[in-house]
Amino acid sequence: MTDAALATPQTPLAREVARRRTFAIISHPDAGKTTLTEKLLMFGGAIQLAGQVKAKGERRRTKSDWMGIERERGISVVTSVMTFEYRNCVFNLLDTPGHEDFSEDTYRTLTAVDSAVMVIDAAKGIEARTRKLFEVCRLRDIPIVTFINKMDRESRDPFEILDEIEKTLALDATPLTWPIGRGRDFAGTYELATGRIRLVDGSGEVAGEGMDALAGLVDANRLAEVTEEMELAAGALKPFDLASFREGHLTPVFFGSALRNFGVRDLLDGLADLAPSPQGLDSDKRAVAPDEDRMTAFVFKVQANMDPNHRDRIAFVRLCSGKLSRGMKVRQTRTAKTIGLHAPQFFFAQDRALAEEAYAGDVVGIPNHGLLRIGDTLTEGEDISFVGVPSFAPEILRRVRLEDAMKAKKLKQALQEMAEEGVVQVFRPFDGSPSLIGVVGPLQIDVLADRLKGEYGLEVGFEQSQYALARWVSAANKADLNEFLNANRSSLAEDLDGDPVLLTGSAFQMTRAQERWSKIAFTDIKDVR
Ligand code: GDP
Repeated sequence: MTDAALATPQTPLAREVARRRTFAIISHPDAGKTTLTEKLLMFGGAIQLAGQVKAKGERRRTKSDWMGIERERGISVVTSVMTFEYRNCVFNLLDTPGHEDFSEDTYRTLTAVDSAVMVIDAAKGIEARTRKLFEVCRLRDIPIVTFINKMDRESRDPFEILDEIEKTLALDATPLTWPIGRGRDFAGTYELATGRIRLVDGSGEVAGEGMDALAGLVDANRLAEVTEEMELAAGALKPFDLASFREGHLTPVFFGSALRNFGVRDLLDGLADLAPSPQGLDSDKRAVAPDEDRMTAFVFKVQANMDPNHRDRIAFVRLCSGKLSRGMKVRQTRTAKTIGLHAPQFFFAQDRALAEEAYAGDVVGIPNHGLLRIGDTLTEGEDISFVGVPSFAPEILRRVRLEDAMKAKKLKQALQEMAEEGVVQVFRPFDGSPSLIGVVGPLQIDVLADRLKGEYGLEVGFEQSQYALARWVSAANKADLNEFLNANRSSLAEDLDGDPVLLTGSAFQMTRAQERWSKIAFTDIKDVR
């Protein structure tokens, strides 16, 4: 892996790459991701939000909340990107859906980041979804920065939270700041390495430094206790090790309160100073370094109707190397087609703008009419494909029942488009029976129904199918695969890419098929190419 941030960048391109920070926030619902996102955008100058984030339901929505269905349910369904500058860095914050039914979307988004911020509720510690998302980050060794939120409320002992991170995630945790007091007494944070103190005054500005400043802040009875704890923290905890963080073995920890703007600037400074700039990425043929001259990129997300007034479909691409210039022609390696990038876009908190140029690490939206799919690689001509934007075997399979049989053709088209966007997976049985849709979480079905009705005028219902499980099938030897396919036609379907999938009614049947066909690989994750 190359890291443009460690070496002094030599070329203008390398300098641009080195100042990029592309990251996502992972957390359990309610830990404060939305609030923190807004505050990061505020400190990054991308929004001027006067009030505090209101309670769910009536609160002001961030721009990432686009769809009607998520407004109704108060959950964030779509994934979006927000770009802002802070100090000399360009931050690309990739938002992920909060609800676990959309975890597939989240996993795909995590293939496009170089680091992640893990938000933990100080009263609750590591929760189920945080752990799951952390495991996904660990698969790719994504460096994690931890933000312990809600320190303005009753919380657990900081040492205990750090211990929990180490034990449950097997991740070294090194605090870079320490909370001065907690709950109602939460007065600020103390930067352990420098003694810098930041007060809770809403702005997050540095209000004083060193122990003397602390004396003016904390009442005399508590001063000894607070000082002792800080000295203990500074002495007892492992020193921060950049290499270990970059390898995904250690997390720097910040304490704060997103709601009260506190610790947010510590976190942003931490990201600017420590988080990796864009990393190299493996393609099927070679490793691609971010500061190579030639542009490469991959699609990790497709989104329709971001703006209901303009029926558009946007492919979100992460640039892996080089520079994108508006108007350039690129090759879509899956089809060998040439595509002109006439209107690539940057997304900010409240706007989008044409991207005249973008660099490795940036995420741009490319408007298109269904040409670009999740997993597609774009290059300046080279025939390579990036690997590892995954598809997950669905956990729920349903048949789509159409109210108006005359609209079957339209439904087929609509399902194809929804599958290309990654809303659901579609499986076409070899025997010609109606398509099945597959989802990981049940809310995906609601979103599908909502969109089929709203965008295509199709009223659909969903029926149980006789199938419960789907596995992609492959074999090292083509003859073996063909033998298997011929023998099992009635239980086979093809996915969007035409790859064969075995459908069974139970886990037992799947196991039996595996035992019987030992030369066939049955997989529940497919790396989209
Ligand atoms: P998300 O589900 O992770 O996006 O969480 P939200 O940002 O929507 O926050 C969930 C709830 O916690 C909301 O009511 C927030 O106002 C509240 N909240 C977020 N951050 C803080 C904080 O630092 N302190 C306190 N007291 N409440 C917070």
